[in-house]
Amino acid sequence: MKIGIAMMSHETNTFSPVITDLDRFSAGRGEPLRGEAALKAYRGTASCLGGYIEVADKQSVDIEMGIAASAPPSGPVENAAYEYMCAAIIELAGRVDALLLDLHGAMTTKSHEDGEGELLRRIRAENPKLPIAISLDMHANITELMVSNCDVLTGYHTYPHVDMDSTAVRGANAFFAMLRGEAKPVLRWGNAPMLPHVMRQGTDDEPNRSLQARAIELEQSGSLGVSVFTGFPHADIYDAGFSVVAMTDDDADSAQAQVNEILSHAWEQRDAFVYEIEALPASMQRAKAAASVSGDGPVIVLDHYDNTASGGTMDTTEVLSAVLDAGLERVAVFGFFDPDVVEQMAAAGVGASVTVELGGKLPMPALTEQSRPLTITGEVKLISNGKFQAQVAMARGLTMNMGKSAVLSVGSVDIAIISRHIEPYDPECFRCLGMEPKAYEYVMLKSRIHYRVGFKDMAKQVIECAGRGVCTSDYSQLNFENVRRPVYPLDQDGGGANESWPLPFTD
Ligand SMILES: [Zn+2]
Repeated sequence: MKIGIAMMSHETNTFSPVITDLDRFSAGRGEPLRGEAALKAYRGTASCLGGYIEVADKQSVDIEMGIAASAPPSGPVENAAYEYMCAAIIELAGRVDALLLDLHGAMTTKSHEDGEGELLRRIRAENPKLPIAISLDMHANITELMVSNCDVLTGYHTYPHVDMDSTAVRGANAFFAMLRGEAKPVLRWGNAPMLPHVMRQGTDDEPNRSLQARAIELEQSGSLGVSVFTGFPHADIYDAGFSVVAMTDDDADSAQAQVNEILSHAWEQRDAFVYEIEALPASMQRAKAAASVSGDGPVIVLDHYDNTASGGTMDTTEVLSAVLDAGLERVAVFGFFDPDVVEQMAAAGVGASVTVELGGKLPMPALTEQSRPLTITGEVKLISNGKFQAQVAMARGLTMNMGKSAVLSVGSVDIAIISRHIEPYDPECFRCLGMEPKAYEYVMLKSRIHYRVGFKDMAKQVIECAGRGVCTSDYSQLNFENVRRPVYPLDQDGGGANESWPLPFTD
């Protein structure tokens, strides 16, 4: 038996102006990895592909590795990139007996709201009986097209996503049991009319901690997989929002009951998924106060309106301006996406004094208020190729590529400037640039929840700062046009979900 394994992964922020072309899926290699090169890159890593390969290696099967395409979150995927990836996977599907796919679940393209559902529909149109397993991110916006065109579906239980590999292992185990005739996975799903704020979705926090714990409990009681998807609100598509998929061994009623139970609990706690925003000046004052308290570790200043892992431009300047204006000392900043400034600094050379127009360069048509470049003068401290080996659970073993990078020192504020978007969740992103985050008084990060993987333990305190950007948690700044209405909290009645509960589910 020949098993195909492939990845097509992108979280699309439909409000983001950052272009998502094939280069973005290629990590600077020109095109995405395939075949033996992809197998070599992902075997043994803490990724979904790593999990799939681990299980497949233990079976008496041949593995054919297809395309392994993953891009940092950004705007809708260009049609050419999408068609390229779909063609590669459909071609693979025609050559194998079963398919394991690592998808994200919140991919929107220039032509399709539901990129993953459309891919699965096309695969099944040509290969109606091909067994398919998919693994999805917790931020997936689940659709009928996805669920009805696969046999096995599993999603992460953690945010930050530190269980990608075990999510794939759970799915692959159910999948191979099905292929051996030892299990008959049956899927049921449903969604709730709510858009949980991403800043309130972390699994360290309630209510998601308990919702995920209940899903794991149901799995330990015999369910093949219970996946709670908090959804990705910045993908403005019809099905955006909270959903649950349950997978049992040939017991549709039980799967349905599991879905309904968790949807009901989530809906009851919908207020706890709403994020309260603090004005930036108040956050700066709290940051200063936090630093003055004795104790080890830096104060984390979180510029969460502009994080790459949710499609941010990574170049808005409001929080950095506030940091400089407030006179914060000994600050490590990660980071700014500004290839032009990197080139300017490289041309000037290490040790040179330069005046640069940092950030604020990418127009954000989805927002009424724009960010502006920040004119600053500093010293070029370092120039680097921007590559490092990930050390934390989310990506351990993978090579990360920030592109040509530089550090600009403005007084005691050290700013990392990069040429390829990368989320700062691994302290190695600083260390490979000669900065030890623990040695600073403050660490400013353009991140929302993922920073917790590598920085939470070292932080004295975390101050969440409302800056500017397309990852805003202030929904009033965004013009939602496509999500089904009413939906909570955009609409306070949330659609009277209790009356229509349970919502229609799949067969
Ligand atoms: Zn995610």
